[in-house]
This record gives sequence, C-alpha cells and structure tokens, in this order.
Amino acid sequence: MNTEWQVLFDEIARWKDAGRTVEFWWRDDDAARPGPALSRLIALAQRSATPLALAAIPMQAEKEIFDNAGPLVSILQHGTDHANRAAAGEKKTEFAASEPPAAAIVRLAAARRQLEMKAGKNFLPVLAPPWNRLPDRLASQLAAAGLRGLSQYGPRTRVEAAPGLRQVNTHVDIIAWRSGRAFVGADQALRAATKHLAAKRTAAADPGEATGWLTHHAVHDEAAWAFLERLFESTRDLPALAWRRAEELFHTS
Ligand SMILES: [Zn+2]
Repeated sequence: MNTEWQVLFDEIARWKDAGRTVEFWWRDDDAARPGPALSRLIALAQRSATPLALAAIPMQAEKEIFDNAGPLVSILQHGTDHANRAAAGEKKTEFAASEPPAAAIVRLAAARRQLEMKAGKNFLPVLAPPWNRLPDRLASQLAAAGLRGLSQYGPRTRVEAAPGLRQVNTHVDIIAWRSGRAFVGADQALRAATKHLAAKRTAAADPGEATGWLTHHAVHDEAAWAFLERLFESTRDLPALAWRRAEELFHTS
C-alpha cells in the first residue's frame, strides 16, 4: 500500500484504539441535468453503499435526476441559480456583499420551494452555497428561507452558524481548480483527510464535525473516479469508521 493510504489508515487505527469512530460524509456539487457523469456518480454510491449528499442547483435542476437517485442519496440546496454576482475585486459568489440580505432571502426561499417540489422526500433544507461562500450576515437569516443547515468548506468554528442552523462542512476537495480542474491526486486528498482527523483527535478542530469529502462529478477524470472507488471500497468495512447520511449530520430526520 502506498504511503499516504497507510498514513490515513494509521490515523483511523488511533481512533479505533481510543474507542472512537471516524465519521466521514460525502457531498457532491452542481447536480442539474441528467448525464453520464451524474449517472456514474449515483451508480458509484449504490455499488459501494455509500450515502451521498447531492447538492443540486434549484433553478436548473431537472426533476428526472431525482427520480432515479435511489435511497442513499439526499438532496441539498446548492444556492439558487449558481450565477456569479461578485463585484469587481470580490471572489466568485452567488451572494455578493452588495445584495441586500432581504433580496437574497427571497431568492433562497423561492429556490428552496422549487427544489423541494422537484426532489420530494429526499430534499433536506440545507444550503451548500456555490463556491462555499456566504456572507455571515446572511447566515443568521437563512431560517427565514426555511433552511436549517449550512455546508461550506474547512473546519467549522461553531456547531450552529446561527441559532437553529446546524453547520457541517467539507474538508477534502478532490479537484485542483487552478490546475485545469484535474484530480488533485490521491496523496493530496488523503493528506487533507488525515490532517482533519488528526486535528479533531487532538481537539484542534471540532471533534464532532464529520470529515467531508467534496466532489464535483461533472469534472472528474478517470483518476478521480478510480480514487473514489478505492476510498469507498477500502473504508466500507472498517469497524471504527462510519459514512454518515446528511440526515444524521444535520438532524433533519
Ligand atoms: Zn457549484
């Protein structure tokens, strides 16, 4: 086994020795239209029996993608239309600093209703904002849009981003966005996971936050698919490890 895999399994063994369970979860972004990559993603979830939190773009999502998703797939809300509203000099975001919060909330509430109607019982009122960006002042108002959870990137600093708004982020992005959107490589992905687990074990990060793997089916190359396959296969039967459903993490059921 190559080194970084071994380092991850060694870290998982430390959790097991301490009588603790490693919690992983899987979020995939940008679901909208049916296609080979989305079909492959859902087939992978089913074949490996891994729960998948699929973040769908409400205003673009076609109902068909939810009909065949199967019981392991939960649907999160990926913004509203995924349009970049950033001003010059601002990082890419759907929720620009210049947009009045009330206007953003109206948009989010309408999008939530749309997505809930299309996705049915698999929909969870959890916002995964595009580019993982959301102004703090909006988080405190998400409840008004019917949202109860928030998922961004990096270790969370609080269990609730605002009262009644549970936060569970992702921590391992497998895409190298600035290097041609290729797979980051197994070593880098595994290092990020091991780092978050070690930080939680030593209480440098919130130990109660499941470690989130972030994927983007539309841009996966063969190496990315092969990596995910190996990750799920090699962790599925570990006694000290659990792949969590988003429902469990966000306490929506
Ligand atoms: Zn996105």
